Amino acid sequence: MHDVVIVGAGPVGLFLACELGLAGCSVLVLEREPETGSPWKVMPLGMRGLSAGSMEAFHRRGIRLADSGPDEDPAPAPRSAGHFAGMMLDPARVDVAALPYRLPGPALEGMMTSLDAVETVLAERAGKLGVQIRRGVPVTAITQDDDGVVARAGGRAYPARWLVGCDGGRSVVRGLTGFDFVGTEPRLTGYAVHATVADPEKLRRGFTLTATGMYLTTPYPGHLGLMDFDGGAFDRSRPLTREHLQAVLRRLSGTDVTLSEVHRASSFTDRAMQATTYRRGRVLLAGDAAHIHSPLGGQGLNLGIGDAMNLGWKLAASVHGQAPDGLLDTYTAERHPVGARVLDWSRAQVAVMTPGPHAAALQTLVGELLATRDGTTYVYERTSGTAIRHDLGSTDPLIGRNAPELRLADGTRLGDLLTGGRGVVLDFHDDRSLRAAAARFGLRYVTGPARHGLGLSAVLVRPDGIIAWTGARDGFEQAAARWFGSTSAAAGEILP
Ligand SMILES: Cc1cc2nc3c(=O)[nH]c(=O)nc-3n(C[C@H](O)[C@H](O)[C@H](O)COP(=O)(O)OP(=O)(O)OC[C@H]3O[C@@H](n4cnc5c(N)ncnc54)[C@H](O)[C@@H]3O)c2cc1C
Repeated sequence: MHDVVIVGAGPVGLFLACELGLAGCSVLVLEREPETGSPWKVMPLGMRGLSAGSMEAFHRRGIRLADSGPDEDPAPAPRSAGHFAGMMLDPARVDVAALPYRLPGPALEGMMTSLDAVETVLAERAGKLGVQIRRGVPVTAITQDDDGVVARAGGRAYPARWLVGCDGGRSVVRGLTGFDFVGTEPRLTGYAVHATVADPEKLRRGFTLTATGMYLTTPYPGHLGLMDFDGGAFDRSRPLTREHLQAVLRRLSGTDVTLSEVHRASSFTDRAMQATTYRRGRVLLAGDAAHIHSPLGGQGLNLGIGDAMNLGWKLAASVHGQAPDGLLDTYTAERHPVGARVLDWSRAQVAVMTPGPHAAALQTLVGELLATRDGTTYVYERTSGTAIRHDLGSTDPLIGRNAPELRLADGTRLGDLLTGGRGVVLDFHDDRSLRAAAARFGLRYVTGPARHGLGLSAVLVRPDGIIAWTGARDGFEQAAARWFGSTSAAAGEILP
């Protein structure tokens, strides 16, 4: 029996598998598809934007997807700031000084990558951490009781103590386990298309909002994105023919553009749904299995990475019998509101793009707001994933927030200290009693004068990078007990 079975070896399942492997759990990943390669996962069809928040998560586990970003002092402005409903943001308008607690570090920027690149790096890391991945195993049944859960696929049973459904938007785990999935029905059908366009000069570059929807031309010839406000009427089980796609593109663009050949095409909608809880007994959901929404603004993968980062250490503590009461349920409590905000963000964009005079008026208004520094900075803060703050019941604005890249005078960064996946006490004042208390909770304790310490004397950072406590000695025991229970002194590690 494994500690955890993960259903789905997409980016979220693999990230979670790495988190659990790092924490010493035995993990089996069951993946429906027999092969890893797919044209939908490589550039440009598989292109995905990782937010600064996701980059930070990778950095905090020492996972390198590309060369580190800028690590300058003071923190630089972002090189790109994305878009809202197809209206591009000017990165020069992001008021970096207004972003609270922003410190220089290698993960200030998002990056464009591909699903294939992310999955390859994570699958390799998972293997090194002892995770087993079985491909060509579509899970079709799940049963659970108080002691464990069994997944079934192809006549075989896979027992585990816990099971996590990371099996995407049409999650079988979600359906089999009876999770409620609620939200809003689609207003549009979207298409990702690779075609030969006979007369590309008839199309405008970048995002174009039109009277019937939106089309996007990318720097890759023939790679198009379409959003057709058909009320979600298109039957997505139908084959996507050249004639249909050309008709949609002609209607959207108001031109007689010709698609001479369609190489690949897929469809999606703006259906925005979310599981009402992310846990039922011994079964949990993460990533698209827990929430779906339109790809507008590219946030689904980032949301899923955040889920996995939040869930991994909590589930590992439960596996090892070290979780304080209620720890696992803080996963839903913290991540459900984050997901709900992303769903609303995507609904807001759909509302702004919906054809008609009301949305046109909204477009003008939003365009004027985006022309201001405050407007651009607000949107950037929302989409970069760095503004997340969980309500942990404290009025301290840092508690519950994703920790900035605190740094010691010797150059050691918080990100370096979190790579082992353990909670960290960073003590800038060498408080001996704090050192002893950290050891009692099995926390990594590091002390030294601050280079970037935000004026704090000390800070407790959870394994997922969330600040759990700041300040003087008072309240440390309570905060540490809330997240880490009471573990033995022997587990503590003290660094000079
Ligand atoms: C056109 C487009 C552009 C996008 N751009 C962005 C972007 O720029 N940024 C961003 O953050 N997000 C973006 N997204 C969203 C992002 O791709 C998804 O949110 C992300 O891939 C979800 O990852 P996941 O691991 O949860 O699910 P998936 O990637 O769907 O992986 C699920 C895995 O589970 C497997 N599986 C399914 N059923 C079973 C079963 N019964 N048994 C075993 N295995 C099973 C599947 O084969 C798959 O490997 C975009 C989406 C689209 C469609």
